[in-house]
Amino acid sequence: MIIVLRPDCTREQQLAFADKLKNDYDVKVNTWEGIHSTVLGLIGDTTQIDIEYIDAQDIVESVKRVQEPYKKANRKFHPENTVIEVAGLKIGDGSLHIMAGPCSVESEEQIVGIAKSVQKSGATFLRGGAFKPRTSPYAFQGLKAEGLDLMKIARKETGLPIVTEIMRTSHIDMFESVDIIQVGARNMQNFELLKELGKTDKPILLKRGLSATIEEWLMSAEYIMAGGNNNVILCERGIRTYENFTRNTLDVSAIPIIKKLSHLPVIVDPSHASGKSWLVEPLAMAAVAAGADGLIIEVHNDPPHALSDGAQSLTPKQFDKVAKKIFKLKEALK
Ligand code: PEP
Ligand code: MN
Repeated sequence: MIIVLRPDCTREQQLAFADKLKNDYDVKVNTWEGIHSTVLGLIGDTTQIDIEYIDAQDIVESVKRVQEPYKKANRKFHPENTVIEVAGLKIGDGSLHIMAGPCSVESEEQIVGIAKSVQKSGATFLRGGAFKPRTSPYAFQGLKAEGLDLMKIARKETGLPIVTEIMRTSHIDMFESVDIIQVGARNMQNFELLKELGKTDKPILLKRGLSATIEEWLMSAEYIMAGGNNNVILCERGIRTYENFTRNTLDVSAIPIIKKLSHLPVIVDPSHASGKSWLVEPLAMAAVAAGADGLIIEVHNDPPHALSDGAQSLTPKQFDKVAKKIFKLKEALK
């Protein structure tokens, strides 16, 4: 961290401030005295330092971080890739996982039928929302606890581990037997939820917020990890841009950027990124080519009658075709 002091700062103030920084934080302070101003360079772990507190000091002209504010999610302090083990499967070990299923669980017949067909096509996880975060309070809100039970029935029938979204802290116990707990885009900065999930050892699929920067997203991962849970899987699901042809804009560059900045696995959701079923295949291919560890894809038995996200859902038959192409591409990239 680099701190530029105001030109009118006295030597006593400067020394007192440097001493305070050394005492309050575990850092070394280097001082460069120029003709017009003095610059302090803080060396060590500056993640605990509140940059706004520094900026608010009378003698400070400006302050800049030169190191990332996240530590546990940072590849600098953990050079090897994190591999997350779930139900005997490994995410982040170089293999490719496809999580597939409907946006919302609608009935036993629907979820079990979809689970069986996506499994045949090579999906390794079943997705399905029981608690749904909808923009409109009048839209289908999910089957809630019943939906969760139906996901478990589908797991029993197929053996596919399940991924489903949590929306509130008080539901953590209810999600005990869920294999991967999804934190949706709208809850990426629900810090109380992140902190509580940090106290569990559950794999967490942390979706990127609609307008979150990569750093904000990694800071949300840091919240979970700071509580002791290192099982975080990042999910790029498109961000808001000025383009409105698609529901969101898939940030393909986030994949290699995350790989560079962090050791956590990253999976991509081409369904929510595009909002259109015909765009799922090319976006999924781009994500795999860019190094994603997996994909999460919405599949519905009857998209025109889906209770949510029908326009972006593939039929099982379309999914089968897309999955074949994806696995072929993955092979070609080896
Ligand atoms: C979902 O997975 O159905 C969902 C609501 O996703 P997101 O949080 O990315 O919008
Ligand atoms: Mn959806």
